[in-house]
Amino acid sequence: VFKKMRDRVSSTTKKFTEKINHLLYYKELDEDFFEELEENLILSDISVNTAEMIVEELQDGIKAKKIKTTESVIEELQNIMIQMVDIPEAPIHFPAISLIVGVNGVGKTTTIAKLAQKYKDEGKKVMLAAADTFRAAAVEQLETWASRIGVDIVTSRPGADPASVVFDAIHSAQAKNADVLICDTAGRLHNKVNLMNELNKLNRICEREKGEYNIHNVLVVDATTGQNALMQAKTFNDAVPLSGIIMTKLDGTAKGGVIIPILNELKIPIEYVGLGEKAEDLVTFNAKDFVEVLYQ
Ligand code: GDP
Repeated sequence: VFKKMRDRVSSTTKKFTEKINHLLYYKELDEDFFEELEENLILSDISVNTAEMIVEELQDGIKAKKIKTTESVIEELQNIMIQMVDIPEAPIHFPAISLIVGVNGVGKTTTIAKLAQKYKDEGKKVMLAAADTFRAAAVEQLETWASRIGVDIVTSRPGADPASVVFDAIHSAQAKNADVLICDTAGRLHNKVNLMNELNKLNRICEREKGEYNIHNVLVVDATTGQNALMQAKTFNDAVPLSGIIMTKLDGTAKGGVIIPILNELKIPIEYVGLGEKAEDLVTFNAKDFVEVLYQ
């Protein structure tokens, strides 16, 4: 898994390594050095806030440890970044209800299919709920996946109230003793307030009806959108408390750096990353390994 991540996220790591290695040309740890460092962090999709925080901590570390060489600075930088991403995992506890939220096009449906396949392979009884009732195509797409993977799905006619789909799905999951109910949700962003209210309502229904089930809400973000992923994580986390994030399309993008501010500023674990379109292309993520990979 680690090797797969290193191979596939090569564009992120190559770009980052090039930028950081350029700093080795500096003879002195002067203002220019720190300015270029901060600029490079921001260009690597590490947010302005997190980049500033990193540089400040680095300057403190240099003083405290009396660091003199650029090589040692780079090492200290890696340590600081590892500490920043070291946040506790929040694993899913079964039986579980999982609302999968995210903007349209990020890879939500594909990710739901990948998760369903993964849980099924682990011997879990999986059920899907097609609660994105605004797009008929989304319901069809999920139905196709459900029959291909061989799991139950609860749907309704297009335009139905998503809350009633989720309500029915929870009771069906409970009646059939499903281990996990994965709910697809709408992701139109052109009316943000409505979308957030709707997701909030779905979350309240899950909380009210869950019985012995545990709620595990997951946001799907697209790595190729860079800083937008951080913004989306903030917005969605205000509407539904997120247990984790899945970042898709980390294959072939130089924008994976946004993982660092997501972890540092929101303290929400990245559970998996998508490294392709196939079911096996969902891999468990380890933030510390990711930072180490950045430096190879
Ligand atoms: P949704 O609108 O959020 O439900 O998005 P879809 O699941 O329909 O995915 C949108 C597109 O992204 C599809 O063409 C997927 O095959 C593709 N996709 C999803 N995840 C990944 C990934 O991890 N890597 C790559 N390269 N493509 C992905």
